[in-house]
Amino acid sequence: LFAGPVDFVKGVVAMSGLPPADRVEICFAGRSNVGKSSLINALTGRKSLARASNTPGRTQELNFFALGEDRYMVDLPGYGYANAPVAVVEKWQKLLKSYLSGRQTLRRVFVLIDSRHGAKSVDEEILTLLDKSAVTFQVVMTKTDKVSRAELEKNVAQVKAALAKHPAAYPELVLTSSEKGEGVATLRAIIAGLT
Ligand code: GDP
Repeated sequence: LFAGPVDFVKGVVAMSGLPPADRVEICFAGRSNVGKSSLINALTGRKSLARASNTPGRTQELNFFALGEDRYMVDLPGYGYANAPVAVVEKWQKLLKSYLSGRQTLRRVFVLIDSRHGAKSVDEEILTLLDKSAVTFQVVMTKTDKVSRAELEKNVAQVKAALAKHPAAYPELVLTSSEKGEGVATLRAIIAGLT
């Protein structure tokens, strides 16, 4: 696991609220229900840690967690707010854009995609946003235990084809199941290796 405590630090609603940029930072993004909370909990070994991000009022915030002594993990709320008022969505997208393009210490964004569904149009939207942000991003397939290997291969190929249009994408995907633990150690090692 990570050395030191893993704790919720703060929910950020404006760039002025960001914590000092003095730690390596990684970020998790994915549409609602993709399995982000489960993966964060599996990664950190802390049950219900990410629940903080899903509580009402926290869904348009950048949620910062301290990962040990020297890094931040940022949980982006599940995107795809069909029901949110336009003004709320616009404010959120502005913050997200500013954060993704302006955060010096942000080393990688992990974009979570459900193994059963492959890349959907909402995923394309975040990938396009990331193209403009100069940060490396990497796709993490979730819930691999829910599909056959054949289906997984098909959806991995579909995601790779989608990624071919995004030059800043890291070419290797990480296949994970929070349920079975697949890929969790691999992802943890990737995070620990970022400097
Ligand atoms: P979030 O909205 O992205 O935070 O998604 P959650 O982590 O809350 O997961 C959404 C649903 O998918 C829940 O019912 C989880 O139990 C389930 N789930 C998440 N990860 C896995 C997984 O690896 N395998 C299986 N079988 N179910 C999962």
